[in-house]
Amino acid sequence: MKKIQKPILVTQSTLPPFEEYVEKINTIWKSHWLTNQGVLHQELQKKLETFLECKYVELCVNGHSALDVLVKSLELKGEVITTPFTFVSTIHALSMNNIKPVFCDIKDSDYTIDEDKVESLITSKTSAILGVHVYGLPCNIIKLWSIAKKHHIKLIFDAAHAFGVQYKGKSVASYGDASMFSFHATKVFNTIEGGAVAQNNLKLQEKMNLIKNFGISDPEHIIALGLNAKMNEFQAAMGLCNLKYLDASIASRKLAAEAYDKGLKKIPGIKLVKINKNITKYNYAYYPIVIDEKEYGLTRDELFKKLAQNKIFARKYFYPLISDCDYYRESYKDASLPIARYVAKRVLTLPLFSGLEPEIVSAICSVIQSCYKK
Ligand SMILES: *Cc1c(COP(=O)(O)O)cnc(C)c1O
Repeated sequence: MKKIQKPILVTQSTLPPFEEYVEKINTIWKSHWLTNQGVLHQELQKKLETFLECKYVELCVNGHSALDVLVKSLELKGEVITTPFTFVSTIHALSMNNIKPVFCDIKDSDYTIDEDKVESLITSKTSAILGVHVYGLPCNIIKLWSIAKKHHIKLIFDAAHAFGVQYKGKSVASYGDASMFSFHATKVFNTIEGGAVAQNNLKLQEKMNLIKNFGISDPEHIIALGLNAKMNEFQAAMGLCNLKYLDASIASRKLAAEAYDKGLKKIPGIKLVKINKNITKYNYAYYPIVIDEKEYGLTRDELFKKLAQNKIFARKYFYPLISDCDYYRESYKDASLPIARYVAKRVLTLPLFSGLEPEIVSAICSVIQSCYKK
C-alpha cells in the first residue's frame, strides 16, 4: 500500500510541457498583439468549434462572463428555471441581470435538474431553462428540449464541467440554444482563466461578439450596451497547448476514477454515481460520493475531517446549496427542494485530476474503508 506523504488536494491544474507554452507565446512577442481577437484566439476558436461540434464558439475571459454575455445577448428576463445544486456563478449570472432564478429540485441518480419537475414551475414570466451538467454528467437534454420547445422558451446549459462530454454520440455543446463552458485552472480543460459559449446561431454569435467588447461595432460606432469579456492571447496559447493533451488527461482521470469505483463500491453507505455508458461518454471531471451517515456510521462532515487528518483534502461540492446560502436563503426558505437539500448535506467530492496515481486512490479508499463503523 502506497503511503500518502504530501497533501492530496481535490484537484491539480493540468499544464502542458513548459517549452511548448514558451514556443507558443513566442508569436506574441513577434506580433505585439496581446488581446482583441489575435491569431491565437482565432486558432483556438476554430479548433473548439470542431471539437465541440457546433458552428460558433465565442471565447471569453472566464466562464462567468461567458454566461453573463449569453444571458444578455439572449435578452432573457423575468424568471429562469434552474438548479440550486451548482456553483454560485450560475445563479449570480441570472440575478445580476435582474432575472429571478426559480429553483427546481434535482434527481438523486445524477444530481442534475429533475426534468419531470420543470414543467410545473413554468409561468408566463419564464424565459428560459438553465440546466447544469453538474460534475460533467449531462442533464436529460432530450426531455428538457421538448419542454422548452412546447413552451416557446430558451434552453441553455451551464456546461462548465462538461468539456469533452458526449451525449447520445454527440458533443453536449451541440444541443439546446447554447452552452457555456469554463476553462478555469481547476477544470478538465483550462486556459488559465477562460470560458466560452458554444452554439449554432449566427445572429447570436454577432451579438455576443459585440457585447463582450463594450458594444463597439467599429472605431466610430458604439451600438449596444456591453462589457469587456475578451479572452487574451496568453490564455488562448495555454488552451492550444492543453488541447493536445486532453485525451491523455481524460484517460488518466478515468484510471483514477476506476480505482475509486473498485475501492469504494463495497463500503455500505457510500453512494457512487452510475454513468450510463450507452448515453454518456464521460470526462471524469469530478468524483462525488454521497454519504448515508446511518449506514456508514460517520457523517459527511466527520469523514471530511478524518480525510483532512490524513492529508486528503476533499471538497464539499456543492454545499451550501445556492438556495440556502447566506445571500439567497431569505428568498427561498419555502422552496421545495428535498433531494437537493439531502444531497448537499451529504456530498463530498474526492481528489481527482490528471496524474493522480491509482495507488494513491487506493490509499484514499482504505482511509474511507477504515472509518466505516459496523
Ligand atoms: C467554474 C464554474 C463556473 C464559472 O466559471 P469561471 O470560469 O470560474 O468564471 C460556472 N458554473 C459552474 C458550474 C462552474 O463550476
